[in-house]
Amino acid sequence: MAVYQEINAPLRTIMTPGPVEVDPRVLRVMSTPILGQFDPAFTEMMNETMVMLREIFQTKNKWAFPIDGTSRSGIEAVLSSVIEPGDKVLIPIFGRFGHLLTEIAERNGAEIHTIHCEWGKVFDQQEIIHEMKRLKPKVLAIVHGETSTGCMQPLDQIGPACRELDVLCIVDAVATIGGTEVKVDEWKLDAVIGGTQKCLSVPSGMAPITYNDRIEKILFSRKKVEKGIATAEDLESIGQPIRSNYFDLSQLQDYWGPRRLNHHTEATSMLYALREGVRIVLQEGLAVRFQRHRLHEKALMEGIKAMGLELFNDTEWKLPMVTCVQIPAEVDGESVRNMLLEQFGIEIASSFGPLHGRIWRIGTMGYSCRKENVLFALSALEGVLIRHGAKLNLGKGLQAAMDVYESVRIMIK
Ligand SMILES: *Cc1c(COP(=O)(O)O)cnc(C)c1O
Repeated sequence: MAVYQEINAPLRTIMTPGPVEVDPRVLRVMSTPILGQFDPAFTEMMNETMVMLREIFQTKNKWAFPIDGTSRSGIEAVLSSVIEPGDKVLIPIFGRFGHLLTEIAERNGAEIHTIHCEWGKVFDQQEIIHEMKRLKPKVLAIVHGETSTGCMQPLDQIGPACRELDVLCIVDAVATIGGTEVKVDEWKLDAVIGGTQKCLSVPSGMAPITYNDRIEKILFSRKKVEKGIATAEDLESIGQPIRSNYFDLSQLQDYWGPRRLNHHTEATSMLYALREGVRIVLQEGLAVRFQRHRLHEKALMEGIKAMGLELFNDTEWKLPMVTCVQIPAEVDGESVRNMLLEQFGIEIASSFGPLHGRIWRIGTMGYSCRKENVLFALSALEGVLIRHGAKLNLGKGLQAAMDVYESVRIMIK
């Protein structure tokens, strides 16, 4: 058998919509020694993480804890615990991740209804509300920040309308949590899924979720009722058992709650990482962190525009942490990306579906969202575009971004 060398990962500047660079403090806590999952020192950390997650989700919900698995495991846990076969689910699709919601809901036997809008746009909230009135679904499942198109769907009217129409509002906020406002309580969202590997800048491998008592009521009704203790009322409202064991939220909340009923073995090192990641977010402060994302987004956008490139998503519904750039006709987008990686160690992303080959996506998320990263990426992009013979205002981009930073410095003084 071959003897392999130890891992020696190259240093990268990661400017994608995830996974992004991880704060060195998070990397450090990941080498903390393992504790048993019922060790009070560890369960205390689990509890502290729940308290901090509530603040990040801006909610008073009792339940806010991570699912072990990548972000889609959080989506799957919520959808498979809430949706029973035959339930009507409405999914407005404005990019790739709307299709993921559909796929997961479908596997859980939902009667799916989708509405679509062109990739690069978002829905008028009234259109979705109108569709809910017509359809009367049990669940509305919707993406907040569509990383595939760089668009952010407003939810402030949709959430309250769901409450009024008795529809459960389930939101994929994987890309937005920790980077921009996700007001779970104010917007009346019933269940929200976040991600670690995006604006929280924790490695991929966990999915923080939160849900309210409207969701919990369904979990109770689907719990296997122990014979003998079920009341007549219980039996009347009894739902079908949740099919997934790993993603059964009714069992997971008994594990995260004071009963500490054994379910899985909590992912020890990832819990350390998440606890440190959310601690750092709250130490910075949500408002300051959101402002920082806006500032670096602005510098990046100004730089891109000044070098003569066109933005795909320069709209009022632009997702602050993903900037989509139209690939000029005369250059090969993949060749540019490859040269950025090989010559500069910078990673930017391509896109999917109808946007494949048409745009680059540049992320400014979490720990990757820093001045030196933005300036480095812009200067490298200008250099690489010159090498590719692009006829643009190359040389102007970096200066425009520096102007943005300078104007802020003067404003602060
Ligand atoms: C990244 C992303 C996901 C999937 O996350 P994984 O960690 O790869 O499972 C889901 N939804 C949105 C909006 C995302 O940006």
